[in-house]
Amino acid sequence: MQNIEKNLNRIHGQIAEAATACGRDPDSILLLAVSKRKPASDIRLARQLGQRHFGENYLQEALEKMQELDDLDICWHFIGAIQSNKTRHIAESFAWAHCIDRVKIARRLSEQRPSGMNPLNVCIQVNIDHEDSKAGIDLTRVPELAAAIHRLPGIRLRGLMTIPAPRETFAEQRVAFAQLAAALADLQRQGIDCDTLSMGMTQDMEAAIAEGSTLVRIGTAIFGERA
Ligand SMILES: *Cc1c(COP(=O)(O)O)cnc(C)c1O
Repeated sequence: MQNIEKNLNRIHGQIAEAATACGRDPDSILLLAVSKRKPASDIRLARQLGQRHFGENYLQEALEKMQELDDLDICWHFIGAIQSNKTRHIAESFAWAHCIDRVKIARRLSEQRPSGMNPLNVCIQVNIDHEDSKAGIDLTRVPELAAAIHRLPGIRLRGLMTIPAPRETFAEQRVAFAQLAAALADLQRQGIDCDTLSMGMTQDMEAAIAEGSTLVRIGTAIFGERA
């Protein structure tokens, strides 16, 4: 249990160090604590330690934890694949969805977002290394999907997300992240107002920050190995 406190402190230190090393403000990087397959009690503890953004991959599991933790002020991010039959719950319960790769899903989320809530923040997932095992679109299709999403009233396009193939060295890890950053800059030049690069996990956080990540998604290094 105390480990979560130590781990959060260590991660904040690592984010600050990685940011400073490339001349960035550490406060420009949001830490998303990925709590999939971890109990609600771990989330409660992390929240008490000041962590406010949590990421979940599995809808049913997430909804149960949300109910158990509904006394807390938490910003919930859905970071799993989204099937059509799951969009309503995601639109109603989350602040962010990171894995949009089809306009059909984006339309449903927009239509199903309750009118009293702020638009759902979304990122387009890019399959940067063209892996069959991963969701996401090709970089070349980003402008087209971004333009379609941009027009939907119930969601707000915040940026791009990716999970690159694992690579050994810092220099190799940076390549994919640099491509995503360039794609975001292209969107901004086209007048699409977006600000988020959701990239970097436990194994490659520093390289992602060096390439401009604004949101790192960290699970294992905070909550320990998953069963
Ligand atoms: C599980 C997961 C993470 C966290 O991964 P760690 O290696 O445990 O830090 C981040 N992003 C996504 C999309 C995930 O599914």
